[in-house]
Amino acid sequence: MTNHLYEALMGQRSGDQRPLLILADGGTISYAQMHERSGQIANLLSGSGVQPGDRVAVQVEKSPEALALYLATLRAGAIFLPLNTAYTGAEVGYFISDAEPALMVCDPRREEEMRAIGGTARLLTLDGAGRGTLAHGADQQPAAQQPVARDAGDLAAILYTSGTTGRSKGAMLSHDNLLSNARTLQDYWRVTADDVLLHALPIFHTHGLFVASNTLMLAGGSMIWLPRFDAAQVVGLLPRATMMMGVPTFYTRLLDRDDFTRETAAGMRVFISGSAPLLAETHRAFEARTGHRILERYGMTETNMNTSNPYEGERRAGTVGFPLPGVELRIMGDKGELADGEIGMIEVRGPNVFQGYWRMPEKTAEELRPDGWFITGDLGMRDADGYVTIVGRGKDLVISGGFNVYPKEVELLIDDLPGVLESAVIGVPHPDFGEAVVAVIARQPGADPNPTSITAALSDRLAKFKQPKHVVVIDALPRNTMGKVQKAALRAEYQHLFTGA
Ligand code: AMP
Repeated sequence: MTNHLYEALMGQRSGDQRPLLILADGGTISYAQMHERSGQIANLLSGSGVQPGDRVAVQVEKSPEALALYLATLRAGAIFLPLNTAYTGAEVGYFISDAEPALMVCDPRREEEMRAIGGTARLLTLDGAGRGTLAHGADQQPAAQQPVARDAGDLAAILYTSGTTGRSKGAMLSHDNLLSNARTLQDYWRVTADDVLLHALPIFHTHGLFVASNTLMLAGGSMIWLPRFDAAQVVGLLPRATMMMGVPTFYTRLLDRDDFTRETAAGMRVFISGSAPLLAETHRAFEARTGHRILERYGMTETNMNTSNPYEGERRAGTVGFPLPGVELRIMGDKGELADGEIGMIEVRGPNVFQGYWRMPEKTAEELRPDGWFITGDLGMRDADGYVTIVGRGKDLVISGGFNVYPKEVELLIDDLPGVLESAVIGVPHPDFGEAVVAVIARQPGADPNPTSITAALSDRLAKFKQPKHVVVIDALPRNTMGKVQKAALRAEYQHLFTGA
């Protein structure tokens, strides 16, 4: 037995001198160098007492060394547990007590704080420039290392979900969950060794770590490895890339710049978007500016990628395309599977679907059916041509006076009104209706849309129960690092509008 995922990602390229990473300063790190460095770090991990199956918790800035640490954890047969750099000490404390990692790697600036939290046998440090006790310790190690044998079903990573309701849950992903999905994406998006992916996503999340990095490594391509998304820098580097993966805000920020032109994108093969809904308007504006139709796909931490618009064929704005090969998808209502065009809960099944939530068998049983279907929590529908559309999270559904209101239906109408950049429709407690529809609107720069005219514009387009009972206009919607609108924060802010508490 070999190491299922590491072998596929790096095995055949251990001596390859071609660049895996291209850095902003023009420096490169070859596949061979990455293989050697991950060997040194893997030896350090094993020498520090990390056993196969142990968790390695990592809360560090993105750097080449951080990618080497991910690969090293796989090689040591351990389970990679990346944490968002924005998490506070209290949040990290919960993850540590839940996952009980054998080792934690943190930023040197937070070493004291992490030591005080405790809970791990060993603590090492790594900063954004690749310095710290992890790097120092690895320097002393030999590069030769025999990857620990791992089977397709062994765990490769645990990623905690963002946990907008209740406690965050650790999604357990096996070597084959990750590898099978990377293979599918490589094939579906035609990724080859000639590709250069502009990588400006964080690598503590499934998008930057698995969808982007695993797929490119599997194909033997290169990545322009940027610590974060900086629109000016990206415009300068795009002429060297063939692909980009981003959250929708990357694309809107590029469109905000006059120097982002058709010429900037002329050498690009494909722009891919996901993690949050891409507005159809952004899709159209991007095509008008560059001639490229953004390819939108849909997935989540627990399932890797589920659907994608086609590489060849029509990329339909506002949809997330078709189920990927090997992934089954169905739309479920209270009484079973629904017909095309009907809105219901999206369920998926396939080799991409996770192994369950870490130490939460009851939660796992609530969402993962015994026959392998996973209840995603996303509401959606499939049209007659097979394209899937996401209508929102199930928990975002507003029930007003006993009627279901799908926020997206209302948002789409509001977004088309003059002066509106985008909108978020939420439900807040209401004494008569249970919940009332509230529209929070982000204005276009320089515009000042009027709540009364918005309400008036909707009055003959929506049934009364779907019409917002209150409209708020603000400068920008709150978003997290993955570009998702924070509806929970909006609900909290406006929860007393009608109850006056
Ligand atoms: P995460 O686990 O952080 O990747 O979040 C997954 C959730 O993001 C999904 O369940 C969807 O609600 C949302 N999501 C991901 N991709 C898309 C997309 N293309 N359009 C709409 N929502 C998306």
